[in-house]
Amino acid sequence: MVNSRGFLLGMGSDMGAIEPAAQAALIEQLKGIVGPGGFREGKDIATKNYEDLMGARAIAPALLLRPSDTQQVSEILKACHGASQPIAPQGGMTGLVSAAAPLQGEISLSFERMKKILEVDRFSSTMTVEAGVELQTIQEQADANGLLFPLDLGARGSCTIGGNLSTNAGGNRVIRYGMARELVIGVEAVLADGTIIDGLHKLRKNNTGYDLKQLFIGSEGTLGLITRAVLKLAPKPNSQVVAMCGVESFDKVADLLVHVQANLGSNLSAFEVIWQNTYALIDEHVAHASVPLPGHHAFYVLIESMGSDAEKDTELFVNVLNTASEKKLVDEVVLADSIAKIKNLWTVRDAAAEVYLSVGPMHTYDVSLNIDDMGYFGEEVEARLRTHWPTAIFGLFGHIGDGNVHIIINVGPDTEDHHLQIDEIIYGLIQELQGAVSAEHGIGLMKKQFLPYSKSAAEIGLMKALKHTMDPRGILNPGRVF
Ligand code: ZN
Repeated sequence: MVNSRGFLLGMGSDMGAIEPAAQAALIEQLKGIVGPGGFREGKDIATKNYEDLMGARAIAPALLLRPSDTQQVSEILKACHGASQPIAPQGGMTGLVSAAAPLQGEISLSFERMKKILEVDRFSSTMTVEAGVELQTIQEQADANGLLFPLDLGARGSCTIGGNLSTNAGGNRVIRYGMARELVIGVEAVLADGTIIDGLHKLRKNNTGYDLKQLFIGSEGTLGLITRAVLKLAPKPNSQVVAMCGVESFDKVADLLVHVQANLGSNLSAFEVIWQNTYALIDEHVAHASVPLPGHHAFYVLIESMGSDAEKDTELFVNVLNTASEKKLVDEVVLADSIAKIKNLWTVRDAAAEVYLSVGPMHTYDVSLNIDDMGYFGEEVEARLRTHWPTAIFGLFGHIGDGNVHIIINVGPDTEDHHLQIDEIIYGLIQELQGAVSAEHGIGLMKKQFLPYSKSAAEIGLMKALKHTMDPRGILNPGRVF
């Protein structure tokens, strides 16, 4: 079938769906492994198991497996490896690159029944969890123990830690705590042939050869399935102050970043930027977000400080903003020091990702580039888009402290039909600037044809060699990433 997203064409050729009779026999074997509550088929499979948040396609898996423990995952993969049956692993289905949605003939493996928190260890500041635990549950459990699990993103209520790790999720506090990759100490994973790799330990220092867990983190389920993990917790901050600043140019945004990094030190926990175009869209389209500053500033910067001494931290924060103002880095500042005011500023920032709900179909992009290229990037993307679509609706925002910008674009009611053309404009510019076509969303199916824009032939060659070694029959999430 020709999909409007032409890049999905030709996918089928990789898939190697197995013979119907062989698949029917395998399905009976798999049902026996997981037992009665461990699978769903036909109309009993909920539509949420068909697609991720991109919703680019919706295909029912041939069978939805819901194993209850690592042993069952191992037996499932062993059987599928034996039959060369492709498997699409699933977490909370909140991804944005069509990595977890099944392709025709694939069997899905959901971790929705593996959601136990196995241990919180206050002495090593770790939490041991199964792959299907929701991110928000982990945050709450850490909080109840006087600790913090710093990974945080909009989908926290439905995304799962297995998905967060297999996609190396980012989010709002990367500037201080790093991406998912940096928040893990040990991982247990199952290889394509069913071999269990037990790396579930709490050793913060462990230089015993290759760091194997990193093969499973960020590889989008193509090299093995993460079943359990030991997460790294941080001390819970007991101060939080947030400000939103109006800034007149991107050069000043970049100088402001350097200023707050130097003066807030480790208290700096977020540096988020909303371009004026996105700020106007939020004001116009997102009713529950009330914008705190007038709309004439070129950039709106949300700065957050978290620390251990409420009084001193607030004083430091105010001083740092005052100096920024004296240096003419900011034109206007609104400070939030109560929970309600802080929540309001974050609501405005989060609203950037909700604009599409009322604007209509929008393509979203997630790219990485050097901070000093970013001002130019914003202007140049707009200029190139406008030569094709003078009235395009368009906005930028992102985690600028991490060099990560998101772009939302609507070129009219037929936006969907122009997907590849818009991709070429955005990713072409990213290639020129030696940035990354994905900063935190991953590659999946959506970006795989653009992988060579950010990775050399030698790098892709090594990735393929690893894939072939770890999954020689190509059953784990085939066709994703490359
Ligand atoms: Zn983001």
